[in-house]
Amino acid sequence: MADPEHEQTSPTAHRWRSLLELQDLDVAIHQLEHRRSHLPELAELRALEADEAAEATTVAELEERQSALVATQRNHEAEIASSQLRLTNLEAKMASAQGAAARDLQAIDHEVSQLRGHIAASEDAELEVLEELEPIETELRAARGRSESRALERSAIRQRGAAAVAALDVELAEHRGRRTALVAGVDPVLLARYDQIRSKLGVVAVARLNGARCEGCHLELSSVEVDRLRKLDDDALVSCDNCGRLLVRASQLR
Ligand SMILES: [Zn+2]
Repeated sequence: MADPEHEQTSPTAHRWRSLLELQDLDVAIHQLEHRRSHLPELAELRALEADEAAEATTVAELEERQSALVATQRNHEAEIASSQLRLTNLEAKMASAQGAAARDLQAIDHEVSQLRGHIAASEDAELEVLEELEPIETELRAARGRSESRALERSAIRQRGAAAVAALDVELAEHRGRRTALVAGVDPVLLARYDQIRSKLGVVAVARLNGARCEGCHLELSSVEVDRLRKLDDDALVSCDNCGRLLVRASQLR
């Protein structure tokens, strides 16, 4: 479809409008690139990774205490098992020892009561260890649960981030395609100047002059300078005194 605005413009206006169009497109491309490299998902992932790292230290300490307590508990169990075995043997011996010397029976009886006391003490000690273990295991289960939900959250964020990147890439490809087409129609002299200023000043190289104000740096030109510009030919290239950007005067767009 023909662009009525462009059809009616003078060659000078067309020249400058194309340059401004290129500038707008380059600003849009720059913004898309910035969004692509500053996705909120990246910050969310970093925060989750920091949480994970912070909790990993606590989990490691808890696991260390847990395994020390479990080792102690196993020692108590081994102690109880061996004492019980000895006790069973002694009781069997007593049962079959009818007619044995009273002194021997008394010695066995003494050992049996010692063993029973020892078993009871070991069981108490084991119980204390189990009581100490319980809150640690509860906390470890909770920490693992949190870690699992963080992993789920991370994978959801990664998916969201990948979808955002894909959408931005489509938009960028479309903008870059438009730029290639547009650049072919921009006056080579203006384009060279535009590229030169961009390499020094960044994204914005060309600015409209709005009254006395440069829309690039938002500063006012002196009235002497404004007067000087007014008298110039529309094809003359002028830069802002303050920021060095190429200025487009209203008269150049008519
Ligand atoms: Zn300026």
